[in-house]
Amino acid sequence: MVSRLPRGTRGRDDGAPGVARAPGRPQVSALDPGLDTALARLAETEHLLVALDFDGTLAPFVDRPEDARALPEARLAVDRLLEVSHTTVAYVSGRAVDSLQLATDAQQGVLLVGSHGAEYRFDGVDAHPPLDAEDSERVTALARAFAGFPDEHPGAKIERKPAGFAVHTRGLDADAVFRAENDARRIIADVAPDATVRDGKNVLEFSVLSATKGDGIDHLRDYTGATAVLYAGDDVTDEDAFAVLGEGDLPLKSGEGPTMAPYRVSGPEEVARVLDRLATLRAATGR
Ligand SMILES: [Mg+2]
Repeated sequence: MVSRLPRGTRGRDDGAPGVARAPGRPQVSALDPGLDTALARLAETEHLLVALDFDGTLAPFVDRPEDARALPEARLAVDRLLEVSHTTVAYVSGRAVDSLQLATDAQQGVLLVGSHGAEYRFDGVDAHPPLDAEDSERVTALARAFAGFPDEHPGAKIERKPAGFAVHTRGLDADAVFRAENDARRIIADVAPDATVRDGKNVLEFSVLSATKGDGIDHLRDYTGATAVLYAGDDVTDEDAFAVLGEGDLPLKSGEGPTMAPYRVSGPEEVARVLDRLATLRAATGR
């Protein structure tokens, strides 16, 4: 597929004398005409799903991931999309769903897909995709590997979860916590090196789910009944999401790097501009 290169700020007229600009609203005049046409077509769909990666797509990169926030204009554009009926917005990220909720300060009605498609939070309900045979085998192997753990680490508790385990260390002294967590990490690295590991307060959680953002998009499409999807992302894992998009959908790459997406913008500022334009086009359809 031919990649459309970003147009940068060419043709931008927001600094022109006499041109009034609504505060906080990005200018849309610099959009690639091909992209604008694709957005206009997308806006006509019956039920639109706008699925967005967060870091590098809505939020510029920062040194500490916990400090990342969406650009104000991106957030405003999402707010505008949420006002249009038959339009759903989802944030789709490699972050755990709790971290995603926090970082995005997710608006009411926004669906969350975390851990690269291994966690969902839809309408306040947490869920995850079903385990395939390989995942089930890894959970069984981990159960075997952790069988002796409570004896080796008195006071530590193992909680079985649908897609993994949690190691609870509440009440243990700092040395014992350190030893237990180290040991748990070693076991996970040996038995299920691809598992997602999450540090909590007095708890280490891990999940073997091998979902991708593409699985997340498929599930979102089923859940919402969307008739067309815009997906925007900046990273290698976003290619899994682009791969499940079809005719009538709009894959949008944010920033540099190889991609199968036919449309590309330079980064979060232009993503915000695209979303704002889409909100305008969508609202104009009378929904
Ligand atoms: Mg990203």
